[in-house]
Amino acid sequence: MMTISDLEDLNNLQILDMPALRVAKLIEDEIFIPLASSNAILTSDLIKKYCQKIKRILESAYTDLHALSAQFWSRPIEKPVIIEEVLSALVLKFLSEMNDSIYIGKILYGMKNVKFTELVYILKKMIVSKELKSFNISAFILFSSFKYLKTLCPETLFWSKQTATIIENFNKYSNPFIEFLSRNSIFVEYLKNICHIDDDTFKNQLNTALRNTFLVKDRDLNWYGVDAFTTYDRKIYIKNFNTQNPVLDKGATFYVLLHELCHFFRRIFCITWEDSRRCKTPKEFIDNRWQKEGGNIFEVKYFGKRHKFLNEKASNFLLFQDENLPREQYSKLFASENKLKGDVYVSLKRGSSPGKKDVVELSGCLISRYREDN
Ligand SMILES: [Zn+2]
Repeated sequence: MMTISDLEDLNNLQILDMPALRVAKLIEDEIFIPLASSNAILTSDLIKKYCQKIKRILESAYTDLHALSAQFWSRPIEKPVIIEEVLSALVLKFLSEMNDSIYIGKILYGMKNVKFTELVYILKKMIVSKELKSFNISAFILFSSFKYLKTLCPETLFWSKQTATIIENFNKYSNPFIEFLSRNSIFVEYLKNICHIDDDTFKNQLNTALRNTFLVKDRDLNWYGVDAFTTYDRKIYIKNFNTQNPVLDKGATFYVLLHELCHFFRRIFCITWEDSRRCKTPKEFIDNRWQKEGGNIFEVKYFGKRHKFLNEKASNFLLFQDENLPREQYSKLFASENKLKGDVYVSLKRGSSPGKKDVVELSGCLISRYREDN
């Protein structure tokens, strides 16, 4: 994702000589461009040929990329990243996972189908991105996780998108959110318990979280089909809900932020990018199945289930109820408020909404939408 000033910088970017860019160009020239431009059917023999090419490129690039990549993963997340290291880590991961994937046939077929050719262009976007650099790095790590095939199509399209997005800091919601938490100690206790911290540490970390929370133009996260994303280096990007109904916008923002804070607090003791990548929520058997996604576990426990929408009554309940209710009671009450007329859930996506602005759709976070292991 890019801002307008990033796009301007992208147009002025000089040709750079970096190992990762050279390897990415080789991957484009030897794999993606021939795939996209050929009309030949992807037979098993052809897949084998591409696999050999991937292996050859990986072997020839490994020495150049490996040391830089290792430096990236061991770099403290509090420190600025070195772009040459980042790109090396991303390209090496991309190549290695393609090389190891048991789904390589499907991956190549998917890349051919969407005519994906622009790996270098994605990396250049990464170089020029400023406020969105953290988002882009973490999103690419997800993108290149070839274990999760359903990420492939939306993400190749997302990365090839050229329009600029607009981001805002979280100032307008920061104090109201702190005040909201002061009336809802059940949430504070839950977040503190994720990482076993005391009140002062919680307050400091919460302030850090809110300083590192950004609102992204709703159109761009809608396009990706998610409401939010917490990066490995603990930046939170939330959809700038824009329903014209301030109670719904604020309610949805707080609901989504609580989910994202579960990811943020899970990672507060992570020092390096590697620590953060490895930091997992222990799975829990809840709502009749094993849940592995930290934010989803929270939603089921405190709101009764993962809600696909938020109505005005539930938003008012979330924002204004100030009794100190036990969790079970809170979650039952919230779920009973958040119902649509009629029993059947209808998609509330743009165009199919009943027209009233008393409901906002919730889509989950990037991790929970495409994979559930964080
Ligand atoms: Zn999540």
